[in-house]
Amino acid sequence: MSFQLNSSYWEKDTFFTHYDVIIIGGGLVGLSTAMALSERDKHISIAVLERGAIPTGASTRNAGFACFGSISELKDDLSSMSEDKLKQLVSMRKSGLDNLRSLIDDSDMDYQQYGGFEFFLPGEEALYHSCTQKLDYFNELVFQATGLENTYSIVEPRDLDVTVDLPLIKNRHESQLHPAKMIKALINKASRSAHVFFGTEVSTIKEKQDHVSIQLKDSREISCDKLIHATNGFTKHLPELEDIKPVRNQVFVTSEIKDLRWRGCFHVDEGYVYFRNIGNRILIGGARNRFLNENVGSFGITREVEDYLKSFIEQHLNINEAFQFEHKWSGILAVGSQKKPIIKQHTSRQFVGVRMGGMGVAIGSLVGTELANLVLDQQQIKR
Ligand SMILES: Cc1cc2nc3c(=O)[nH]c(=O)nc-3n(C[C@H](O)[C@H](O)[C@H](O)COP(=O)(O)OP(=O)(O)OC[C@H]3O[C@@H](n4cnc5c(N)ncnc54)[C@H](O)[C@@H]3O)c2cc1C
Repeated sequence: MSFQLNSSYWEKDTFFTHYDVIIIGGGLVGLSTAMALSERDKHISIAVLERGAIPTGASTRNAGFACFGSISELKDDLSSMSEDKLKQLVSMRKSGLDNLRSLIDDSDMDYQQYGGFEFFLPGEEALYHSCTQKLDYFNELVFQATGLENTYSIVEPRDLDVTVDLPLIKNRHESQLHPAKMIKALINKASRSAHVFFGTEVSTIKEKQDHVSIQLKDSREISCDKLIHATNGFTKHLPELEDIKPVRNQVFVTSEIKDLRWRGCFHVDEGYVYFRNIGNRILIGGARNRFLNENVGSFGITREVEDYLKSFIEQHLNINEAFQFEHKWSGILAVGSQKKPIIKQHTSRQFVGVRMGGMGVAIGSLVGTELANLVLDQQQIKR
């Protein structure tokens, strides 16, 4: 039987009250936005509404690559954007990673700079050669965009103990981190200045002339002056935003492999397949380009993706002991025709920061800063 859950006087006075800013979505973007808002204005009242018991989208379910672009990916980007735009994108990713590391100590999110590697499959000889021919060009482009020198170099497969014929391209500045520890640290920090509600799903939003009224799934109500949507792959409640598509990525982690000799993040198949070590385990995920079923906004594991990724390890990584996938999960990311996120004012009182693509770890915290600036520079928050 459904019933109306009214808030008590006390709850209305304390929790389900009026806030200067409410953020829907407690992932990396939502939490970073809360922190950036209070950093700029200590007196602002902020609530984050997260429907999961913990943030449940991409931010705690990703692969933890702290990356800014492999050569094949940047080369591909150049076919759809100018060199200046690409430099801006690379610069944004690097600044985003620097910003994240200024918010959270490396040791609190297991940040390790083992480097990133682009891994070329049999049949990708032409791609490999076109990338190595451009190595100096992209070293210069990354230097101009970020100040980082000699980013890319060539590494022999035997140095990494992988069974692939073609050499790999190393990005020595890439790193890996533990996404859930990152989010836990952000929740702790954001909670100092914002009320972070978990298990709190927004069901309807009504924008009025002088406030925004929000109804929660349990039928309680809450309101704010300004509302920010940080819902990434779960933004179908704003159908006006057409160029945003949720897609699923499945991720698998092997049992411990005693003899695993390499460390680092690996990009394969132009970034659609990725793998890394977690200690002595291998995390592998992606391949959504090969399976149409992955173009969905719902979680799930499928046998075909699991089998494909397991045989990828068997064929291309030199693993001489039996292993199983001991952990399996999926996450939802948001992509569109452009790689840039959508950060904009949506209506007079609503703002969006969505479509983080596959590099949300790199750009997410910076998107939070940009959203906070957008909202506060509008100067319509009245107290
Ligand atoms: C499997 C996978 C691997 C990835 N690997 C990497 C990687 O290695 N490196 C990298 O840089 N990026 C990676 N990404 C991308 C990156 O994780 C995302 O871009 C980033 O986490 C997006 O953060 P977000 O805060 O915008 O979205 P999310 O983390 O998805 O947060 C959105 C939140 O909104 C909440 N929400 C939605 N609707 C409502 C509602 N109605 N009411 C209340 N709450 C709501 C959801 O529960 C969710 O927690 C990966 C993504 C996936 C899925």
